[in-house]
Amino acid sequence: MAAKTDTGARLANAILFPVVGLVLLAIALSVGLIAYTSRSADIAALNSERNLLRGSTGLQLELLAKEQEGVAVWDQAFFYARPETLSTDWLNANVGQWLYSNHGHDQTVIVSVGGEPIYNSVRGRLKAPEQAEHLLETVKPLVARARARFIASFSRLPSGLYYVERPKTGFTRSLYETGFAVFEGEPAMVSVTAIGPEMKQFLSARRPPAVLVSLKKLNPPRLAALAERSGINGLRSVPDPRKATGGAYMVLKSPRAAPLGYLAWAAENPGSAILSGVGPVLFFLAATIAGLTGLVLFYTRQNTRRLAESEARAQHAALHDSLTGLANRDFFAARFREELADWEVGKESIGVIYIDLDHFKDINDTLGHAAGDEVIREAARRLRVLVPEEATLARISGDEFALLLPGCDTRERIEQVLKRMQDRFAVPMYIGGQHLHVSLSVGAATAPEDSLSMGELLRKADIALYSAKASGRGRWAFFDIGMEEHVRTRENLAHALREAIAREKLTVVYQPQTTIDGTKVLSVEALLRWTDPDMGAISPAVFVPIAEEIGLINDLGLYVLRRACQDAAAWPHLGLAVNVSPTQFRHPRFIEDLRDTLEACAFEPTRLEIEVTESVFADNDTDILKVLTQVQKMGVRVALDDFGVGYSSLSYLRRFPFNTLKIDRSFIADLEIAPHAHAILSTIIDLGEALGMKVVAEGIETRQQAAILLRTNCDRLQGFYLSRPIPPERILEAERRLAGDEDTAAPAMISLSA
Ligand code: C2E
Ligand code: CA
Ligand code: CA
Repeated sequence: MAAKTDTGARLANAILFPVVGLVLLAIALSVGLIAYTSRSADIAALNSERNLLRGSTGLQLELLAKEQEGVAVWDQAFFYARPETLSTDWLNANVGQWLYSNHGHDQTVIVSVGGEPIYNSVRGRLKAPEQAEHLLETVKPLVARARARFIASFSRLPSGLYYVERPKTGFTRSLYETGFAVFEGEPAMVSVTAIGPEMKQFLSARRPPAVLVSLKKLNPPRLAALAERSGINGLRSVPDPRKATGGAYMVLKSPRAAPLGYLAWAAENPGSAILSGVGPVLFFLAATIAGLTGLVLFYTRQNTRRLAESEARAQHAALHDSLTGLANRDFFAARFREELADWEVGKESIGVIYIDLDHFKDINDTLGHAAGDEVIREAARRLRVLVPEEATLARISGDEFALLLPGCDTRERIEQVLKRMQDRFAVPMYIGGQHLHVSLSVGAATAPEDSLSMGELLRKADIALYSAKASGRGRWAFFDIGMEEHVRTRENLAHALREAIAREKLTVVYQPQTTIDGTKVLSVEALLRWTDPDMGAISPAVFVPIAEEIGLINDLGLYVLRRACQDAAAWPHLGLAVNVSPTQFRHPRFIEDLRDTLEACAFEPTRLEIEVTESVFADNDTDILKVLTQVQKMGVRVALDDFGVGYSSLSYLRRFPFNTLKIDRSFIADLEIAPHAHAILSTIIDLGEALGMKVVAEGIETRQQAAILLRTNCDRLQGFYLSRPIPPERILEAERRLAGDEDTAAPAMISLSA
């Protein structure tokens, strides 16, 4: 069962895991896509912020250059910056201080025509030109380019003179170069421009210009202004790009392309912003989907498990017997087939054993089906604990069990098991308030000795079982060839019986019932006789059960009744007793058939007595009581046959007013051997008497027995001592003989003195 459930779970997993995987994958992909989109949006925004900043810084640099232009494109500055006419004072007042006070330039340096610093001021204060050396080293490429551009701008006249002329307006009036440098440890904007004349100047040679270097530190207010123009937030200078969050920085490079510093800002990150807005919603959605999937998974798993369980149950039910929980016939057959298929030469034998509860039918008939079921269950319990692990025990029909015993190296091994079983069953069962002795009959066959075919082995085990039963129950038998003959006989018997019944080959004999002194015949009991031409005389104790088995008992019973009524017409002064089998009695048409037969033979119902055994009382004994009552209402008497051998005779006696009680002949047979038999017999007779029944003692075989009976209150006698069952034509003769009218046979006269 557990294994089946596992299969179910595996099946569930096989279906569910891919589904769940897909759902999770879809969620993951969606999340990934959203994250990717937001990241892309962030990057795009960052790039555009960076471009804006770059543009703004470019504009600021150009503005710086434009601020320089006011002093750099100036004839006087051109003049005072030349080595021959150099005036530091003039330059300081008109360039350095002016640029600082008007435009806030942090440093102003002038480089001479020869390339040396000739003027240096920091925030309008004059400083030693040499102190500008470091700055100049940084901006050297800018200075060189500015000088080169200036020189390149000379035009040559045909006279050999050169002149410089600049455009009148716009940013391009000066020839400038811009870039970044470091000032007081902070990045700064630098613009370098040649100091040139305003008007057209004629020169004899291309002379390099003096160069004005202006520097504006990127201090917080400037950065704030820059940020505002670029439309970005939190712009600041950082020494290390790692200090910038989310890659929002721009590198500031020296003219030699060495990084000088970084501008970092608070990136807008619109994607992240959207994501953090919708994020919780997305998370909630994903969680809901995941949760729902989990729920579906859970319920589906549960359902599949339940399904698997019920399938396992169904499978178990299909292979097991519901009453005992043992394997059923199908399961047994399957296991048997497997074992046989696995068997090969050199392997140990396989035992197949049929087990049958003795007299189970009687238990069922007398105690009812509920008790019968309890007996079966108890038997199953007992058997189950006795069989070895590797064996298969099955219930194959009503009270029949089968045992498959692999690995039987010797017959003793099977016998050990069987012995243990029978020992266990020697202990009475306690069922329905009473102790029952239930014995087992067992038949065994072995593979490969008896056969290797399942059907054949089962048949042989069955034959062995039959033989064990026939040899007096509570035994076991192993199959041997001789038994087969026997069974064939039984089958032949059934066949011949069918034939004989059809052809009315059976005869009826009659056994007288006499008064207690044996002198007067009161009635006769009709007993069936069958003599087969080949098999000879066959006892009704043998063929009546066969007729029951093959479904002919009803016809047979009616045949006897009819014949007996016809025969009894010859002795109208005698009663007639006819045996009725339980099966015939339980037949739905029994009353009708009985009435029809009596009418057809014009037989007086009060002369007839039917004999039933207590096994007629099956579980639905209210119906049986009804039929019995109907029989009595017709005037027909009812006798309880074989009294004393069943299970609960007394209770039946109380429930139905039998007219006659026939004490079983085993009590009579016991008289001469068992110590208390006499007392028991007297008690039974007194009991019948007390209940108002006629008491008949059957099976009187000896004079002594007859003599003992004479001293009791018994009403009638029947037995070989008085008369064997005889053909109808001899009844009157027997009557006369018993009465002592004939001197030929004078056995019957019994007297106390005899
Ligand atoms: P039963 O009803 O108990 O019949 C009495 C049996 O005891 C008869 O055996 C009879 O021959 C035998 N018997 C009579 N006196 C003595 C005696 O002193 N000693 C011994 N040992 N036996 C004696 P039978 O005829 O072989 O019948 C056996 C059983 O077969 C009957 O037992 C009855 O149950 C059944 N039977 C016989 N005829 C019929 C019938 O027509 N219908 C039905 N349903 N059953 C029948
Ligand atoms: Ca009888
Ligand atoms: Ca009897």
